Amino acid sequence: MTSIESHKKAKALKPGSVRPAKELCSECGLCDTYYIHYVKEACAFITQRIDELETSAHKRPRNLENENELYFGVHQEMMSARKQQPIEGAQWTGIVSSIAIEMLNRGLVEGVVCVQNSKEDRFQPMPIIARTPEEILAAKVNKPTLSPNLSVLEQIEKSGMKRLLVIGVGCQIQALRAVEKKLGLEKLYVLGTPCVDNVTRAGLQKFLETTSRSPETVVSYEFMQDFRVHFKHEDGSEETVPFFGLKTNVLKDIFAPSCMSCFDYVNSLADIVVGYMGAPYQWQWIVVRNDTGKEMLELVKDQLNTQPVTSQGNRKPAVQQSIPAYDQAVTLPMWAAKLMGVVIDKIGPKGLEYARFSIDSHFARNYLYVKRNHGEKLEAHVPEFAKRIVEQYKLPE
Ligand code: FAD
Ligand code: SF4
Ligand code: SF4
Repeated sequence: MTSIESHKKAKALKPGSVRPAKELCSECGLCDTYYIHYVKEACAFITQRIDELETSAHKRPRNLENENELYFGVHQEMMSARKQQPIEGAQWTGIVSSIAIEMLNRGLVEGVVCVQNSKEDRFQPMPIIARTPEEILAAKVNKPTLSPNLSVLEQIEKSGMKRLLVIGVGCQIQALRAVEKKLGLEKLYVLGTPCVDNVTRAGLQKFLETTSRSPETVVSYEFMQDFRVHFKHEDGSEETVPFFGLKTNVLKDIFAPSCMSCFDYVNSLADIVVGYMGAPYQWQWIVVRNDTGKEMLELVKDQLNTQPVTSQGNRKPAVQQSIPAYDQAVTLPMWAAKLMGVVIDKIGPKGLEYARFSIDSHFARNYLYVKRNHGEKLEAHVPEFAKRIVEQYKLPE
C-alpha cells in the first residue's frame, strides 16, 4: 500500500472535538482532514521542526550569525513595495491577492488555497480553493482570527490538481510543509504573511468591544509601526488607539494559547512573505526566501513601486521596558498613553528595527508563557533562532 493510500484510512476529527495539540491547537485545519494521520510530525505545537523544514524548503539552513537571517529567516532579498494601483478593500495594497491572480491567469497553478469569510459574518473564516481571479479577490483582507486553511487539503487530492498555490500564516505553513510530499502535487507554491497575536472568533469580539468606539462597523484593523491600532470602519473612517492605552488587564488572556506559544512570526517556511512591519507606513514589506519566491515576485514587479529596506533607532531599551508591562498587564491612563505614543513615534525604531522590536517583544512574552504554562515543552518547542533572540534580554522568573 502506498503512503497516499494509507493516510486516506485516517479519519478527520469532527468539528468541536478536542485536537491532538489540545489547548495549544491553532485550528490550522489539518485535523479536519485525513492528513491527521501525520499530525505528530506535522503539528507546529506537537513537534517544532522549523530548522529542519527550512533546510528542505529553501535548500539551506538559516544563517544564525547574520542578524537579518536570525530575525527574518532564510532569504535572498528584502524590499519595501506597494502596488501602483492598490486593490480597494485589500488589507494593505493587495500584493498577496495580485501575486495569486497572476499565477492563476498565467497558468502556473490550477488553484489557490485562500480564505474568504462567511456570508453572515465578515470575520468568520471560510477557506476555499479558488479557481478564478474573482474567488481570489473575494478572499482579500485579513480574517483576524484562527483560520482552518488546511481543511481544504482533501479536496486537492480528490480534484486531481497538480499545481497549487497556498496562502497562509506560519502554523498552517509548517503543517503544510510537513505533508507536502503526500499531496500528490507536481509543484507547490507557498505565499506567506507574517502573523502574531491571533485570537479565536470569540476573543476577537471581546477585543473589538473593549477597544473600538464602534465594534460593529469595524471592517479591518492592524497593529501599526506608530504603536497604535488602526481600525477601518464601514464608512471609510479610520480610528486609532495607542497600544499603551489598550486595556491589557481585560485583554490579558485574549490571545489564543497557540499564538502565545508561537515563534514563527515571519513565516519561515513560505517561498515569499508579504507583510508590512519592516517597511515605512503605507508600504508593504517583501521577503523573498528562495528561487520559487523570486519567480512569484517577478510576476507582479511591473505593478509595484519598490524601494530598499531601511533601519533606524535602537529597539532594545523599548523591548526591555515592554517585558514587565506585558508581564504585569499594566494599563496606562489614555492621556498618558497618547503622549507616550507620540514620543515613541518621533524617536522610536523604524523599518527593520521596528520589525525587530516587534519580534523581540513577542518572543520574550511567548518564551515566558511557554516556560510558565508548558515548561516541559520549552527546550524542544522554542527554535534555536528564538532562543538567541530572547537571550539578549533580562526576563523575570
Ligand atoms: P490581501 O491582498 O488583502 O490578501 C490577504 C490574504 O490573506 C488573502 O489571500 C487571505 O486568503 C489571507 N488571509 C486572511 N486572513 C487569514 C488568516 N487568518 N489565516 C491565513 N490567511 C489569511 N504583517 C506584519 O508585517 N506584521 C504583523 O504583525 C502581522 N500580523 C498579522 C496577523 C494576522 C492574523 C494576519 C492574517 C496577517 C498579519 N500580517 C502581519 C500580514 C498583513 O496584515 C497582511 O496580511 C499582508 O501584508 C498582506 O496584505 P495584502 O494587502 O497584500 O493582502
Ligand atoms: Fe491539528 Fe493543526 Fe490543531 Fe495541530 S494546530 S492539532 S495540526 S488542527
Ligand atoms: Fe498561527 Fe502563530 Fe499566527 Fe497564531 S500567531 S495563528 S500560531 S502563525
